[in-house]
Amino acid sequence: MPLPSLPFNTAHCFIDGAWRAPVAGSTLSLFNPSDGTELAPIARGQSADIDAAVSAAQAARDGEWGKASALERGRILTKIGQLVLEHVDLLAELEALDVGKPLSQARADAIALARYMEFYGGAADKVHGETIPYLDGYTVYTLREPHGVTGHIVPWNYPMQIIGRSVGAALAMGNAAVLKPAEEACLTALMFAEIANMAGLPSGALNVVPGLGAEAGAALSAHSNVQHISFTGSVATGALVQQAAGTNTVPVTLELGGKSPQLVFEDADLDDALPFLVNAGIQNAGQTCSASSRILVQRSRYEDVVAAMSERYKTLQVGPAAEDLDLGPLISKRQKEIVTKFLDQGKDLQVAAIGTIIESAPIDGSYVAPHLLLCPDPSHPLAQQEIFGPVQVIIPFDNEADAIAIANGTDYGLVASVWTQNGARQMRLAKALKSGQVFINNYGAGGGVELPFGGVGKSGHGREKGFEALYGFSSLKTVAAKHG
Ligand code: NAD
Repeated sequence: MPLPSLPFNTAHCFIDGAWRAPVAGSTLSLFNPSDGTELAPIARGQSADIDAAVSAAQAARDGEWGKASALERGRILTKIGQLVLEHVDLLAELEALDVGKPLSQARADAIALARYMEFYGGAADKVHGETIPYLDGYTVYTLREPHGVTGHIVPWNYPMQIIGRSVGAALAMGNAAVLKPAEEACLTALMFAEIANMAGLPSGALNVVPGLGAEAGAALSAHSNVQHISFTGSVATGALVQQAAGTNTVPVTLELGGKSPQLVFEDADLDDALPFLVNAGIQNAGQTCSASSRILVQRSRYEDVVAAMSERYKTLQVGPAAEDLDLGPLISKRQKEIVTKFLDQGKDLQVAAIGTIIESAPIDGSYVAPHLLLCPDPSHPLAQQEIFGPVQVIIPFDNEADAIAIANGTDYGLVASVWTQNGARQMRLAKALKSGQVFINNYGAGGGVELPFGGVGKSGHGREKGFEALYGFSSLKTVAAKHG
């Protein structure tokens, strides 16, 4: 798949409604993870570019965008959603080239981006404050107001979905956004800016500055004129971003990944569970913050689950994004090294099954075959640490208390699911699991944009998606009028 021709220069930033070269004129290279070839140059934005983007965002807040009604903001977002749908094929192609995502998964992400715009477009004029009964002679009410300029630091694994959920919600509330996409994958972020411009989003309401995390990302998170930061990525970088924003006492939303378990009890319907047990682990080659990398199985069904998952694993195929197989490559050679080191660390674990890298996969692609491993010890590093690759461990448990202890026994808490027909157990587990989302007899519920998402513990804090994100991207003002 060659890089399609684009209506902008990939080595430019999008600032104040126009494409411009970064101030220092430097560029970075994007690589195609399916074959290791250079894909395109991108801007190496630095603090001067972030300054320009933040100034443009401030001007947008003081100008046309800041004065737009909630209805007008919603209409523009809805229009962006329509245009995203009209460009679905192009966006899918760009994401497949840039991230290595199998084409149909990239297409699903583009459709999700459109859906976020539709959802937040429709929601923009439905968020309101309340009146509060108070002392005689007072009228008290609350106003939901935008923070001002919001910073969005986005990773490479789901660029379109993460832009949709964070930039969409921020714009719906009237903030002006500065987006720093990941240096490994940023073509759809650039195309999104072009589409927003086509939809009539006023200049400065959305600015995109690609660049390195330690340069553009650090400049954005420490900027004194940014009033909110949304970060998705690693725990270590999230902590840095929070510290930097803390010096300006700026609120931060952190979404940092997980070690999400699926709990399979003896009364589970295995036919229903099987596709979720495997797909939730290998989707996007395991590079998913909500990947289910731990499968906890009651001992009486352990052999059944191992056999069924192994059968499926033996059919899994890995290859270039354009082949649209079960898995594409990992994002980079660096990520392949990280995952390979984890597999070395797991040499003491019994391998239940391994998928297949197709023979025609280019030698310079970052391919790792999916691994299903048996892990009797829940404290094993592979059962504790986020691998961010196609590796799942199966852990046996004896009873409900045991299952809860193992499920809650990592530093993370993003997503969990419970497979059981027992209604009382479903309710007990939903309460007992330390997790931002709990699914019962499914995993992810199709990823609906309506469902608030975020973690506890090292998975982060704050919520995106759904209406909850609109509260996060706004500030509540209480007005108390004394009138006698
Ligand atoms: P990262 O956290 O370093 O990068 C994510 C984003 O933060 C990128 O846009 C990056 O440019 C930016 N960034 C990096 N350093 C920064 C800094 N000092 N200040 C501000 N922004 C900065 O993640 P990575 O290096 O791409 O991947 C490393 C690991 O992170 C992966 O192996 C994986 O475990 C995890 N990860 C998690 C998610 C997730 O969705 N939770 C996404 C990507 C990576």
